[in-house]
Amino acid sequence: MHASTQPLKQSVRQQIETLDSERRGQEMLSLARDLYPICRSLTGPGNRETLARIQRDVPLDVHEVASGTPVFDWTVPPEWTVREAWIKNVQGQKVVDFADHNLHVVGYSQPVHTTLSREALEPHLHSIPESPDWIPYRTSYYQETWGFCLAHKIKAALPGGEYEVYIDAELKPGHLTYGELVLPGQRDETVLFSTHICHPSLANDNLSGIAVATQLIQLLAEVDRVYTYRFLFIPGTIGSITWLALHPEETKQIRHGLVLSCVGDAGQPHYKRSRAGDALIDRAVAQVFRQDAADAVVQDFSPYGYDERQYGSPGVNLPVGLFTRSPHGTFPEYHTSADNLDLLSGEALTDSLRLLLESVAIVEGNASYRNLYPMGEPQLGRRGLYASLGGANDRADNQLAMLWILNQSDGAHSLLDIAERSGYSFARIRHMADVLVEHALLEEVGAP
Ligand code: ZN
Repeated sequence: MHASTQPLKQSVRQQIETLDSERRGQEMLSLARDLYPICRSLTGPGNRETLARIQRDVPLDVHEVASGTPVFDWTVPPEWTVREAWIKNVQGQKVVDFADHNLHVVGYSQPVHTTLSREALEPHLHSIPESPDWIPYRTSYYQETWGFCLAHKIKAALPGGEYEVYIDAELKPGHLTYGELVLPGQRDETVLFSTHICHPSLANDNLSGIAVATQLIQLLAEVDRVYTYRFLFIPGTIGSITWLALHPEETKQIRHGLVLSCVGDAGQPHYKRSRAGDALIDRAVAQVFRQDAADAVVQDFSPYGYDERQYGSPGVNLPVGLFTRSPHGTFPEYHTSADNLDLLSGEALTDSLRLLLESVAIVEGNASYRNLYPMGEPQLGRRGLYASLGGANDRADNQLAMLWILNQSDGAHSLLDIAERSGYSFARIRHMADVLVEHALLEEVGAP
């Protein structure tokens, strides 16, 4: 070892094999803990504070797009700032207070200061009768109103009479703020990772996505990359529409993409395919699930969910799928105060991270080859190939994987095709293809 030499860049495979799950899990939980109390929305100071905290871990670029900017069929909204919000009873006691939990205020509430009856207050109060202890998460981005969210048991106990309502909020021309980080690769062709940053104190949706994306940046920064990687930390819907509208050239480079959301809970991994349904990223994630996550679920595309809807709109039509654990709307804590830090575990976050790295390893490592001795089988023993088959546990499988590669490598089949057809893991197929290339039996004909 020479102290002066730069550490060699790793491969994604080496990173997966040496992943320090305990440390990575703790780092992701620590980021989620720091971000949890911040009041985020489509726009506003909480989003800047969030991006500034992420910048302590990775060097995000922070961009601001002015309110009023036309973006496709939409317009960048006014910036929302909320400082204080409460409801007081006739005794002057605060019965609901934004200072206690930022879910108490409906996102994008108009400012208000008035006194009104319990009856007149009712339409402005949101609760969940079936989960009387939980505060719901509500927003009203595009309809001018105000409101409060509270536990149903508190709401049900509010007696008749007058209430003083105060929301010290501002909706005025400002900016939409988002974070972006590009890791250049050998090619300009890009893999997109997109995660939303617009939810206030909710953990799985989507501090988990932010934490996993941040960790993925740190890991991919250390590897030798074929593709360029672009990470977006954006408010949901309007953020992706804004980015797409303002970046047509960068959009054209996107070859594969994943939206990350709800990736820190104990549920099994889920993948929702891209609009195309058979894009390489769809096949890569499905392959990873087959080899590493037997209980994981692959679902077909649907035009509902997160920003994959925008990336998969017909005029944009990017191959971007949605990677989650429990899908949105399927876990009881979804969009309530019960989606708190207790729902996240370091193990689930790290498992999501590992599955994503495995998917990246396929995207990075997939290529097509030509068998240079296609007339009959080449004589393997003469070339010393049996010595490259590994230990007793792997020998038979490695030998059969090698035969699959030699048989299928006519230039038209990729290594992912071969992994799918043979049932072997992509990692095994990739490794044995490397062995065959070393022994001059195989020649790359280019990435598919
Ligand atoms: Zn959500």
